[in-house]
This record gives sequence, C-alpha cells and structure tokens, in this order.
Amino acid sequence: MFNVAGMRVSAGSRASGWIDIAQLPSGGAIRIPVVVIHGRREGPVLVVDAGIHGDEHEGVIALLELLRDMDPATLTGTLIGVPVLNGPAFEAGTRGNPSELHVYDMNRAFPGEQTGTITKRIAARYFEDVVKLATVHVSLHGGGGVFYHAGAVNVPILAPEILRVVKSIGWQRYTDAPDSALSPLTGTLSQHCWDNGIPSVMMELGGASHRAPAQLTHVRDEFHRGLRNLMIACGLIEGHSRRSNPIHRIKKYNVKTNAGGVVVTRDWLDIEAEVEKGEVLCDILDYLGNLLEEVRSPLEGRVMGLPGSCLAYPGRIVASIYSVLDETHVD
Ligand SMILES: [Zn+2]
Repeated sequence: MFNVAGMRVSAGSRASGWIDIAQLPSGGAIRIPVVVIHGRREGPVLVVDAGIHGDEHEGVIALLELLRDMDPATLTGTLIGVPVLNGPAFEAGTRGNPSELHVYDMNRAFPGEQTGTITKRIAARYFEDVVKLATVHVSLHGGGGVFYHAGAVNVPILAPEILRVVKSIGWQRYTDAPDSALSPLTGTLSQHCWDNGIPSVMMELGGASHRAPAQLTHVRDEFHRGLRNLMIACGLIEGHSRRSNPIHRIKKYNVKTNAGGVVVTRDWLDIEAEVEKGEVLCDILDYLGNLLEEVRSPLEGRVMGLPGSCLAYPGRIVASIYSVLDETHVD
C-alpha cells in the first residue's frame, strides 16, 4: 500500500485525486491534481510535474499521456504525476497566477507557505504532501507564450546525484547556468528539492511559436523519450533507453533588447543556426518603421531559443544562444 496526500494506492494499481488548497472568493476550489501509478513491487518514487508555469503547455500534454499509457503491472516502484500544478495560471494562460500581487512566479516561491497566498500555499502543500516522497523529481518546462526553446535539462547544481539524472534522461544538452529571465534560481522547486536531499532537474522544451501538430508531436515525443529513459535507468520500467550520445554541457546566454518595439529577426536565424560574436540577430523597429536597435550576439554559438512574438518590451529576451562547454559519453 502506498500513501500519498490522503490517497491509499494498493500494489499494481492506479489512483487519482485532488489536494484541496483554498477556496476562491466566488466559491470555486483551488486544487492540485495528483495521479499515482503504483507498481506491483516496491521501488523508487519518481515525481513529475508540469504547469508550474501556466503558459507552458507541452509538458502538461506529455505528462497526461505518459500517465494515461503507463500500466502499473509493468512498474517497479511508483510514478506520481501532477499535470497542472499551477491551476490558476494555466487557466489564465499566463506564467503565474494573475491574482497574485507579490508572488507571481511559482517557480521562485519555494518553500512556499501554508498560510500564504494561493501560489505559496500550492508550493508548500505540494512539497510537503507529494514531493517529499520522491527518490527523483522532475519539473517539465517550456518557452511559454512568448518563446520557443529547443530543449535542455536545467540543473540546480552539478552534483554527482544530479548528473546521474541528467545522463539517465539522455537529452542532448544540459546546463547549470540557464541564464533565466529571472536569475538567480533561488526559490525554484529544483533548488528546494536539492536543499532537502532530493535530486531534481527541470526539462525545458517547446513554446508558443511551435504548437502546430507536427511540432507539438516532436516536443511531446522528446519529453516521453527523456522520462522513459529516466524510468528505465531508475529501474521503474524495463526497456531499451534511447539516449543522445554524447551529452553536451552548455552555457546559455539570453540576448535581450534594450529598446522596446517590433522584433524583425534576420531571415537566416533559426534554431541551431550558427552565429558569430557581434553578428546582428534582429532589428527592433518602432511603429513607424524606424530602426531603434540592431541586436547583436555577444558570443559565438548556436541558436537554441527564439521569440514567439514580434513584440518586445525593453529588456525582453529576443534570442538564446548556447555554446558547448564539454561533452560526456554515455553507455
Ligand atoms: Zn517554466
């Protein structure tokens, strides 16, 4: 019998339910959805969540499908999935819960607070009731409503336990320096997990400009490939992993515009395009067509992220460039 958040799940079965968090002024409930797939035999516990940022949809779809297709009879250990962690943000289609005044980004709100605002309550209860059970924890992220991200595993620290998770997932790229729009990583769920001795990573892939069916299928398949590889490596399921080899540790740099305006990217600029240091990536125009800024790459590398919107406010990311620091061969 496996106990999680008041649910009792017997060996070789699945269960799902809600963790009640709070009631809205209009009477509606704020709840965390939890799906538990408990194997016939005891083993490691993998906790996976998506939708901590409400505009990052690909992980939500990938996780719902992974959970739907997982047969508890084939499992050793337990898979716990939380497909939409930040419900209010997901329903608003925004990164954070729009009703928040001070704690907008849930992935900077950990450890949270049981009597705090909705975002802090979800964070605190989720960690206490679910994540603490994890042998390994993974959060699924993407580029959200304003960006496409070509994929990397983001880690809070280059510890051996976390590098094992990175190699197990087998995505081509990983970084401990995500150069987030909201650096540093203090208050992220992965950092809080690690502070509590739980290896945790963020798998980031996808985004608004790549949600046509074929592109969405690619992103979903990549999430499934990584999560299945991890489950095989942890002994949760049997099978042959399909890992990238070698795996690159990268440095990622977010190129930001100084001027606000209309972003017109250069024609050649696409995901994986090579860029030279100082090369112009895009023009920023005002609404009359006047050139306000030529945004240049500060380093030599390859493109891994592009905006899904032609609107930029000052300081907005208009491209992500990465360079490879070193490579690791996996078996
Ligand atoms: Zn995110």
